[in-house]
Amino acid sequence: MKIADKNTKAVDLVKAALAKAEEYKDYNVFISMNAEAALAKAAEIDEKIAKGEEVGKLAGVPYALKDNYSSHDGNTTAAAHILDSYHSPITATAVAKIEAEGAIMIGRANLDAFAHGGSTENSYFGPTKNSADNTRVAGGSSGGSAVATALDIVEFALGSDTGGSIRQPASFNGIKPTYGAVSRYGVVAMASSTDTMGCFAKKAEDVDLVMGIMAGQDAKDSTTLPDYWTKSLDEVKPAKKKIGLIRDCFGDGIDPEVAKIVREYGDKLKAQGYEIEEFDMPILKYGLAIYYVVQPAEVASNLSRYDGVRYALRSKDVKGLDDVFVNSRNEGFMKENKRRIMIGNFVLSSGFYDAYYLKAQKARTLLINAYNEAFEKYDALLCPVAPTPAFKLGEKTSDPLTMYLEDAMTVPASMAGLPALSVPAGETEAGLPVGAQLIGRAQSDQLLLSIAKQIEDSEAK
Ligand code: GLN
Repeated sequence: MKIADKNTKAVDLVKAALAKAEEYKDYNVFISMNAEAALAKAAEIDEKIAKGEEVGKLAGVPYALKDNYSSHDGNTTAAAHILDSYHSPITATAVAKIEAEGAIMIGRANLDAFAHGGSTENSYFGPTKNSADNTRVAGGSSGGSAVATALDIVEFALGSDTGGSIRQPASFNGIKPTYGAVSRYGVVAMASSTDTMGCFAKKAEDVDLVMGIMAGQDAKDSTTLPDYWTKSLDEVKPAKKKIGLIRDCFGDGIDPEVAKIVREYGDKLKAQGYEIEEFDMPILKYGLAIYYVVQPAEVASNLSRYDGVRYALRSKDVKGLDDVFVNSRNEGFMKENKRRIMIGNFVLSSGFYDAYYLKAQKARTLLINAYNEAFEKYDALLCPVAPTPAFKLGEKTSDPLTMYLEDAMTVPASMAGLPALSVPAGETEAGLPVGAQLIGRAQSDQLLLSIAKQIEDSEAK
């Protein structure tokens, strides 16, 4: 990562990033730019460097911020009309931490509204285009952050991952940390029991650097864990050097090219001395069903606060108090947000709670048990990130179920709170990037990154 110092001016780094953002405007990466404030911050850093004062570990490094993180710079829209005029009075802990180290936000990146989606097509501000083929989706929901990194506009970007939103759009390294590793304070809540804050960067080491700064306990988020992100990647060693390849993730519904490329990543691991063993995890076939009951239930609760009274948008078309709630929500949410609110309220309603929500939570426990069993044998698990390479814009928007199927391989680790990393595994014949997913036991995030780094290093030779 290029850090500002005596020879590299922060202002130049920021200017270059802003120029690239402008060059790639057609990709619709950003919802808003933060040029003026970014240049002012960069000038401050350069001044400090000139005076020989202490600057942080990310001094002058421009980054893109998924637009569901609060900060004083710009509106926090969550890509939804209901929040598009919302200026947050607070700064997310993760943002405060990286900015304290000198990182500079150049723009707020596009996403599926409220992070509901896997293609960035559910954004009120229009879809972000794929960096490898602009007729295809960027993936999502952190599509803007992913493409900002893929196009080298920035060297890292922040995202959030509730069920795959960092891993799925990343065609390079994107990490969803262990649940509780990074504070959720100040990030628009989606499903509180699986929301995690992570980042994208092209090198595993850069991901590690940023995550090491963001991680740690925060009094403002009671689910945060004591800081365990404390080692250097070279210090982290696998106990068994054994990786489990989840056979269930290579069968029906998986694009054969994706399956082949991910298996080839397994071969690269073998070449680095890892034993790769195929094993079955039959409970995984219920992962998607569990997620699409629990997650909408939490979404419905979290989104009840957007009522036209406390935040941003209030409908002008009101005759009474009920209209304020109903019309503001109706105008402000996207169709996908409404679908999840309805499903969520349904599965929580009396009469259906036992049949859906409770049952899903019980199945979730079985899923967690299955992972625990697997980690008795393996250091990490390997499977694809998504069943297909990036699909065409508009291809799946009319059928939510086909869209949800894209999440089949990312949501199980989310439901279990495990760290999972998307790594670049290769390209299809058509030149579309394909990611492999490494899943680890809780708090083994750095082990996953060290494995990715070993492969990176071996390929650089
Ligand atoms: N694609 C998944 C969904 O639509 C995951 C979203 C996320 O992680 N924010 O729910």
